[in-house]
Amino acid sequence: MNGTNHVIAFTDVGKVEIEAHPLCKCDPDKMLIKTDYCALCTYEQRVFSGVHKTPFPYIGGHEVSGTVVEVGEELQGKDFKVGDKVVVGVNLPCGTCYYCRTGQSQSCPNFSDRKILPASPYPGSGALKEYLMAGPQNVFRYYDVTPKEACLIEPVSCVLHSVESTDPQFGDYAVIIGAGMMGQLHSQLARLKGCATIVIDMNVERLKLAKQLGATYVIDPSREDAQAKVLEYTHGLGADHVYDTTPIAEVAEDAIKYLGFCGKLVIYSGIYPDKKIAVDPHMVHKKAIQIIGSANSNQRDFIRSSKLLSHGLIDVKPFIQGVYEARDAQKAFETAPGRFRNIIHLHF
Ligand SMILES: [Zn+2]
Ligand SMILES: [Zn+2]
Repeated sequence: MNGTNHVIAFTDVGKVEIEAHPLCKCDPDKMLIKTDYCALCTYEQRVFSGVHKTPFPYIGGHEVSGTVVEVGEELQGKDFKVGDKVVVGVNLPCGTCYYCRTGQSQSCPNFSDRKILPASPYPGSGALKEYLMAGPQNVFRYYDVTPKEACLIEPVSCVLHSVESTDPQFGDYAVIIGAGMMGQLHSQLARLKGCATIVIDMNVERLKLAKQLGATYVIDPSREDAQAKVLEYTHGLGADHVYDTTPIAEVAEDAIKYLGFCGKLVIYSGIYPDKKIAVDPHMVHKKAIQIIGSANSNQRDFIRSSKLLSHGLIDVKPFIQGVYEARDAQKAFETAPGRFRNIIHLHF
């Protein structure tokens, strides 16, 4: 395929521009994918606002759906064919280190957003483009769900990884702090794993949505004593799992108090600004508490996440706030709603 590959590039703080680059030939061991939709994650929003500093020009975007339009010579007659609806991910881990080779590529120490991906003129996760080129290890099929929803397979894969890191069991109690998209997804997935969920947020609308999406209980800490409520709902036990989805250090410090004995806390979000917190090691010892970090997702998470959406087990529709055409990308970034998603239709 010859032609042009339009890209939406970050060219400065607060600025994205559409550029036309030549489309390179498809490598024999890769596929060419025409993109459909890309969601603007908090990561891209932080690059746009300058909170996350990276040299420009840069191409962001990592929550993307598309269609296979060309299959490289070596891949023909194998797993993928032209017309397959797919998402693309797990591009930034190195693929060769100990962690990548033991199925833990989500924690690759060489993970780099300065990597220049195939068919990309600039560094970055690179999905905000008309065409992507990727090998089968980075391409995941989906079915029976719209391309708009499918671009959220990536965030679901990250949350799936997070929820599984505490090994929930039927009848467990899960507290989710923050009712943005990531909190809502934690609640939905913890429910699927058999937990009674308690979602904590100060935004009444978000709490209402959490209830609609199946949360067992919701708590507004600006109006009620959250710790007392958690103890009430768990009949004095406290939570088996606490997932903190907020970027606030003080909230992470506070999250420990919701845990019961043998409870596990996941720090899911990056913390901005980066700040230390106080943890009482004696209490961690005595209550046998575990504090766990979770970031990103791996190939297996992507495959399972795409099945969850393909079979309607997870509802992501409520998280899509605005849909913008590529030419309005600047506006899509300027109005990006923080805890939910604007998505861009990548037709140029
Ligand atoms: Zn993301
Ligand atoms: Zn690696």
